[in-house]
Amino acid sequence: MCALIVEQYFAAGVCISPFLQDYIDAPMGQVIAIANQKGGVGKTTTAINLGACMAAAGRRALLIDMDPQGNATSGVGIDRNSIEHSVYEALMGEVPLDEVILSTSVDRLDIAPSTRDLVGAELELVDADEREFRLRAALEPLRGVYGHIFIDCPPSLNLLTVNALTAADGVLVTLQCEYYALEGLSELLQTVSRVQEVLNPKLELQGVLLTMFQHTNLSSQVIEDVREHLGEKVYQTIIPRNITLAEAPSFGQPVIFYDLRSAGAKAYLALAREVVSRG
Ligand code: ADP
Ligand code: MG
Repeated sequence: MCALIVEQYFAAGVCISPFLQDYIDAPMGQVIAIANQKGGVGKTTTAINLGACMAAAGRRALLIDMDPQGNATSGVGIDRNSIEHSVYEALMGEVPLDEVILSTSVDRLDIAPSTRDLVGAELELVDADEREFRLRAALEPLRGVYGHIFIDCPPSLNLLTVNALTAADGVLVTLQCEYYALEGLSELLQTVSRVQEVLNPKLELQGVLLTMFQHTNLSSQVIEDVREHLGEKVYQTIIPRNITLAEAPSFGQPVIFYDLRSAGAKAYLALAREVVSRG
C-alpha cells in the first residue's frame, strides 16, 4: 500500500519522500487529542486523515473514537451495528483496549470504535475511582505498539474530553475559519491548563489548525487574527474547504485513499509532516 501511495503521489506532482524521511526519527507512541468543544470544526476529519497519512508513511496508527456520535468509526468504514466491544467498555474496565480495536480498510490504521453507550460513560464514571485516568490507563500497554495515536474528542469539555487530555502528550485544536473562530478558545485553553496542572503535567499544545478555509476576505482576516493571538502555535498548513474531504467519509475512506490528487489530500499530507516535525 505504501509503495502505491508514493507512486500516486508522484503522479499527483507532489513529492512524498521528504514526508517519509521525517519518520526515521519520529518517536513511538505519541498520543494526540484532537479537541474543540464546538461541533463541525473539522476534528473528526483531522483525526481520520492524520491517522491515514501516518499509516501511508509506514507507521502503525490508532484512532480512538471518544465521540458517542461515532463519526470517526463510520468514517473509516466500520458498520456501527456490527461492533462487539467499544471504547465505552475499555473506559469501564470491562474489556482491555486491545480487544476493542478493529482494523480498517487502510493497512496499518486501526480504530477503537465508539457506540452510543459512550453517552452513559459520563454519568457512570462520576463516582468512579481514577475517573479522569481511565483512557490513559487503558492506552498505556499500546504505546509501544503504535507510532501515532489520535483521539477524536466529542464536541464538549466533558469527562470524555478530560480523559483524552489526560491520556495525551499533545492537544491539536481545530478552528474553523469563520467569524467566531476564537469564541470558546479561551475556555478550551483553560481546560488544557487545568489538566496540565492537576492531571497531566506533560500535556502540550501541539498546535492550532485552521480548517475549512475559503478564499474570502473574512477567512483571510480570521487567519490574521488567529496568528496574532496564537503566533507560532498555529500550523503553517491551512486546510481548505474541499468537497472531497466531505465526500470521503461516506465511502468509509480517508481522503488520501479516496482521491490523492485532491486539495484536501495534499493539505493533510502537509499537516502530517508538520505534526511529526513538531514531535
Ligand atoms: P467535528 O468533528 O469537529 O464535528 P467534522 O470533521 O465532522 O467536524 O466536520 C464537520 C463536517 O464538515 C463534516 O461533514 C465533514 O465531512 C465536513 N468537513 C470537514 N472538514 C472539511 C473541509 N476542509 N472541507 C469541506 N468539508 C469539511
Ligand atoms: Mg467529530
